[in-house]
Amino acid sequence: MDILIVGSGFFGLTIAERAAASGRKVTVIDRRHHIGGNAYSEDEPTTGIEVHRYGAHLFHTSNPSVWEYVNRFTTFTNYVHRVYTNHKNVVYPLPINLGTINQFFQAAYSPAEARALVHELAGEFDSKDAANLEEKGIALIGRPLYEAFIRDYTGKQWQTDPKDLPAEVISRLPVRYNYDNRYFNDTWEGLPTQGYTAWLERMADHPNIDVKLDTDFFDESQPLNKRATVGQLPIVYTGPVDRYFDYVEGALSWRTLDFEQEVLQVGDYQGTSVMNYADADVPYTRIHEFKHFHPERADRYPTDKTVIMREFSRFATREDEPYYPVNTPEDRAGLLAYRELAGGEKDVLFGGRLGTYQYLDMHMAIGAALSMWNNQLA
Ligand code: FAD
Ligand code: UDP
Repeated sequence: MDILIVGSGFFGLTIAERAAASGRKVTVIDRRHHIGGNAYSEDEPTTGIEVHRYGAHLFHTSNPSVWEYVNRFTTFTNYVHRVYTNHKNVVYPLPINLGTINQFFQAAYSPAEARALVHELAGEFDSKDAANLEEKGIALIGRPLYEAFIRDYTGKQWQTDPKDLPAEVISRLPVRYNYDNRYFNDTWEGLPTQGYTAWLERMADHPNIDVKLDTDFFDESQPLNKRATVGQLPIVYTGPVDRYFDYVEGALSWRTLDFEQEVLQVGDYQGTSVMNYADADVPYTRIHEFKHFHPERADRYPTDKTVIMREFSRFATREDEPYYPVNTPEDRAGLLAYRELAGGEKDVLFGGRLGTYQYLDMHMAIGAALSMWNNQLA
């Protein structure tokens, strides 16, 4: 074995694929029973509908080398992501656009009129001096739109009053003065035609790659554990950085998600793939309806059944799956300390979402892994 990779998410698999293609022998371990990290998906057994096990994953990128690379393993459908939100039992399009504004104010404003109105409503705070998320939100879109679509949704997601969250969380809240409601602005967007797991399996499908599942790096009863391997060969570690160092600098804080999945005996539950729930009295943040991610599979998906998943957000304990870094000032200080420790760890490179305590989209995780391979490992 020339290299050990801890974690079979997109970061780990990209390193594994590149290393194998250049003739190195690679072992990838993962503590879960499947490959792919959070991008893993599987077919719900009674309906055959592909379900994204760890929350909806939409692929999008503007990076030409990442787009060229991912197309070696899968083709993509022409799915374009659009999100709607339910506020007081009325459905509005997101991100906030001229359609949202006109529906909310029961008006027919032109782009210039809507811009002038939001400018006037937003005058309460100056965006540059905004001290917290609430002030920033009001400075960007005005209080009425902020209170309807942002305040309570953000409060549910972070279990924190937006007045106590940093302004940066929504520093680039898009507001569009036209009717464009595409969720992403990237050059390329789509879903893997044969599903995420087929894509991930193709990346790992090489005689030089050995994948061991149900194998935890910190479990000393299995041979490829931390104590037995560090210093013996190059290691790429994509698990949580604080766990690697036994939390010596404290535990970094994460949000986790709980998913409640249900098979319903109706052909179409909500008419779209993702519906957000903006109000505080609904406990979940959104509902995913998976068949809408693949309209091109209409002939093979059932017409009388559907799979939905309600998403709930909360702070993670050490036993939960970490999903989104919270990034408090204490977390940022802790991360600096861990980065210093990581720099001193012989032959171990830290990568990916958990290893660098960063929210990374899939294209960012793949791009970062390609850079690590080219600049530090190849
Ligand atoms: P992960 O996929 O988390 O993989 C890390 C792997 O390491 C896991 O399989 C884990 O089991 C393993 N591991 C951890 N500790 C150990 C250990 N001790 N021993 C062995 N193995 C270990 N990106 C998009 O581009 N579009 C989206 O729409 C999107 N939606 C998302 C929704 C949610 C809810 C979340 C959480 C993420 C979303 N992402 C999305 C981001 C995407 O999931 C990440 O970019 C991707 O998972 C990053 O890959 P990774 O390899 O860094 O981490
Ligand atoms: N947001 C919001 N209302 C919405 C959707 C998003 O207030 O209906 C805010 C919220 O603060 C959230 C941020 O925008 O944390 C990013 O949302 P997005 O859905 O893009 O993030 P995801 O949870 O999908 O990563």
